Amino acid sequence: MSTTNLNVQKQAELYKGKAKTVYATDDAERLILFFRNDTSAFDGKKLAQLERKGMVNNRFNAFIMEKLQAAGIPTHFEGLLSDQECVVKKLQMLPVECVVRNLAAGSMCRRLGVAEGTVLNPPTFEFFLKNDALGDPMINESHIETFGWATKEQVEQMKDMTFRVNEILKGIFLAGNMLLVDSKLEFGLFHGQLYLGDEFSPDGCRLWDKDTREKLDKDRFRQDLGDVVEAYEQVARRIGVPL
Ligand code: ADP
Ligand code: UDP
Repeated sequence: MSTTNLNVQKQAELYKGKAKTVYATDDAERLILFFRNDTSAFDGKKLAQLERKGMVNNRFNAFIMEKLQAAGIPTHFEGLLSDQECVVKKLQMLPVECVVRNLAAGSMCRRLGVAEGTVLNPPTFEFFLKNDALGDPMINESHIETFGWATKEQVEQMKDMTFRVNEILKGIFLAGNMLLVDSKLEFGLFHGQLYLGDEFSPDGCRLWDKDTREKLDKDRFRQDLGDVVEAYEQVARRIGVPL
């Protein structure tokens, strides 16, 4: 994967999130995402700085977004700009998180009392409201319609695209002897059309070694298992991300 000369000039900082900083550019329809080394869990209550994480996640995300684009998923990704930056289409983000699960883990186990690792067939789909102050509560399609967070058509498109992304990525990770346990996707609008936005990296999904079930994702940080970035790098190597 080559670093594209995307010919945009970085301008004002628009938003500093928990892991990325978003910059305007001289093109009103493009943004620069800067992947910082900051990591957080539990809605920002647990924080740390992890060396190399920004670079690893930026390159990881670029690799995955390009695979998804090639498989026909419209994504915001336009190209890598530097080790820790990429250029994306400026989306009007929908304030919901789409979570798809192939195996039970995390909040599903706590909420439903299911054992971690239970196979979910067919995969489940959940919406959460993107609101740290409220702890990202689970919501349903009725809430989304009533509060106007997305239209019924956008809800259907988000579900459809999330399941498609899940199937594409399950295969990519399986080829690296890993199980894609669950993942969180965010979508937004560009000229009225739905695009996959934000990032796909081990920060926003769960990945287990297929044989040992070793956790290779952000649970290493959440659960103080150590070697967080080393695990992300191992995942990247296994699927062929150039680091
Ligand atoms: P958070 O906001 O959860 O702390 P980040 O630190 O990752 O997360 O910040 C990145 C922010 O940029 C997120 O709020 C995300 O919704 C938003 N974002 C991601 N991609 C785009 C895009 N293409 N256009 C506009 N906003 C985006
Ligand atoms: N996730 C995320 N951001 C969030 C909440 C969840 O990226 O704000 C991801 C998380 O990493 C996991 C999946 O979504 O891959 C499902 O998370 P879950 O609902 O189990 O919540 P958790 O227990 O991880 O907070």
